Amino acid sequence: MSLLELSNVGFSYDRRSQTLDDVSFTVTEGRSVGLVGESGSGKSTILKLMLGLSRQQSGEITFEGRPLDLSSGAFMRDYRRKVQAVFQDPYSSLDPRQKVKSIISEPLRSLKIPGNHDQIVAEALSAVGLPEEALTRYPHAFSGGQRQRIAIARAVAAQPKLLLADEAVSALDLSTRILIVDLFRKLSERMTLVFVSHDLGVVAALCEEMVILEKGQIVEAGNTQDIIANPRHPYTRKLLESIPRMPCAMK
Ligand code: ADP
Ligand code: MG
Repeated sequence: MSLLELSNVGFSYDRRSQTLDDVSFTVTEGRSVGLVGESGSGKSTILKLMLGLSRQQSGEITFEGRPLDLSSGAFMRDYRRKVQAVFQDPYSSLDPRQKVKSIISEPLRSLKIPGNHDQIVAEALSAVGLPEEALTRYPHAFSGGQRQRIAIARAVAAQPKLLLADEAVSALDLSTRILIVDLFRKLSERMTLVFVSHDLGVVAALCEEMVILEKGQIVEAGNTQDIIANPRHPYTRKLLESIPRMPCAMK
């Protein structure tokens, strides 16, 4: 089933340049999509539109067959419940004044999710591999990798259908990155992932589908293994050549 669909999406921040040009792709339930491209290619802008934080100037974005209706409070509340995100910087994305328990339960409160929040938070914490003691501590007590686990726990607490991750492992050192990629892989069995990265290697390890973006345009899209085995576009080949040699744990 099609979960999220972009059809001929165009977007620009100003009149001088076109940031996204005629971008179309479909996120199918259960098939994670990697969005790959160099810095400045428009990946974060696509995520911004997907999250309903900005509106495209042309084309359409639909979720479960319905156009995103940014003006409808009811639609957006339901949407926020089903679509959550994790960002790059685990240092700035967590409120330093709140304890971990309050951070993870925040979406449950603001989205008015029914049920026992303590129990839901405990499950989210265990899903990301953090001990229960973490709940009563503040973000500063944790390393970058652990903070990213907290951010992921917050994103998955409400059990979204779609998890968007924007360079979510890019700020982490290599050994931590491997662990967090592994966590995303585990989560991708329960929810669909749209994983944005400039690193094609990380995306290849995680996503069944891949969309390659160059200067706001899709140059290649499809099954990850097919694209890696037979890259058609020179830009894809260039990205493939720039993959750093990863330890075999990345495979
Ligand atoms: P990526 O995430 O792939 O690095 P972005 O989506 O952040 O790319 O940026 C795409 C283009 O849009 C870049 O040229 C960038 O400079 C520009 N851009 C991004 N955010 C803004 C903004 N808030 N205002 C103006 N231009 C922006
Ligand atoms: Mg970006």
